[in-house]
Amino acid sequence: YDALRAVDPEIAQVVDDELGRLRGGLQLIASENLTSPAVLAALGSTLSNKYAEGYPGRRYYGGCEVVDRAEEIGVDRAKALFGAEHANLQPHSGANANLAVYAAFCQPGDKVLAMSLPHGGHLTHGAKVSFSGKWFEPVPYTVREDDGLIDYDQVRDLALQHRPKMIVAGATAYPRLIDFARFREIADEAGAILWVDAAHFIGLVAGQAIPSPVPYADVVTFTTHKVLRGPRGGMLVSKAEHAKALDKAVFPFLQGGPLMHAVAGKAVALAEAATVDYQRYARQVIANAQALTSALETHGMRAISGGTDTHLALLDLQPLGVTGKEAEARSGLAGITLNKNAIPYDPQPPMTASGIRVGSPSITTQGMTEAEMPEVARLIAAAVTADETSEDGKQALADVRDEVGTLVSRFPAYPR
Ligand code: PLP
Repeated sequence: YDALRAVDPEIAQVVDDELGRLRGGLQLIASENLTSPAVLAALGSTLSNKYAEGYPGRRYYGGCEVVDRAEEIGVDRAKALFGAEHANLQPHSGANANLAVYAAFCQPGDKVLAMSLPHGGHLTHGAKVSFSGKWFEPVPYTVREDDGLIDYDQVRDLALQHRPKMIVAGATAYPRLIDFARFREIADEAGAILWVDAAHFIGLVAGQAIPSPVPYADVVTFTTHKVLRGPRGGMLVSKAEHAKALDKAVFPFLQGGPLMHAVAGKAVALAEAATVDYQRYARQVIANAQALTSALETHGMRAISGGTDTHLALLDLQPLGVTGKEAEARSGLAGITLNKNAIPYDPQPPMTASGIRVGSPSITTQGMTEAEMPEVARLIAAAVTADETSEDGKQALADVRDEVGTLVSRFPAYPR
């Protein structure tokens, strides 16, 4: 950072402060992680300079012979890691990868069957405020009220009734495994494309900790910065028969020049994810999420679906008489970063919400194990139930903040 400090001390201070924030608190956002110094080095490299519209060997600019190697290596690693016939590392984000899928398979007005937003679906799965709900016709499926699980019979009924062009499996706040074989059967019966949006859990697939959607899906999109622990960005893998349509959808339909530094960073993350160390990490992420969820239940929170099979849990705070909004704000004051989240059939509006979502990717990267989860849960519970408007509550939050500091000092993010 020496050059940055010399040229722009103001932005250098932001970078330093963010590192301080990461080091000083508990990071429990389920969609975040602490990417490796190797990935950061690729991101901060001169590959950022290069225009490389097109694909390796077929570029619209000269001088791409070097950056071509980064993309070729990355594509080969993605295909090997996921057992995929085709991979595209160019989507700038998860939302862009998803837009490319719509562009490849749908025409405006086509029906798309996906999990409803309030039940855990992503904005790009048909929300009215996104292109997906504005230009396409969403048919939402839900989770069951009694057990919080996907109702596959409902998915099948809706698929046969509406005959959607695509069926989407995958969500932002679904803690359980998804039955991809069942989705494939339904898609085949309805004559639909099966698209799995694996943004949240692809890292667990890469680490061989949960079953892969790749053998079942026509296309799998994902972000590269969640459990997978790569740079911020998107990616897709697919069957060979869809390769041309998807590649053309990413470029030139939707994007211009790829971010070659990000493509290189993705290649680095894919190499890291292919190691035995990473596989151990992926299993530990799940073990930590499960231990944290059980411990939070002992403090009176209700785990939606009764637990988790993945890196995240959704907790209903109604038994504690606390809203998600209050919990997020109070946790923030105590140095614990998590997000409020609507729960299925939530009586509260989304900006208030009855729940929180917690995830274990970052704290697991820092080296925490099941042994620390009861303490993490105790600190969360103490924070969310402290009334920050009272003197006692303020003191309680300050005490939690101190304890958080002591805990994370044993597991430093980016150790010096
Ligand atoms: N799909 C799912 C399931 C997600 O959870 C997310 C982000 O959280 C995205 C897509 C979008 O990714 P991005 O924020 O990179 O556009």
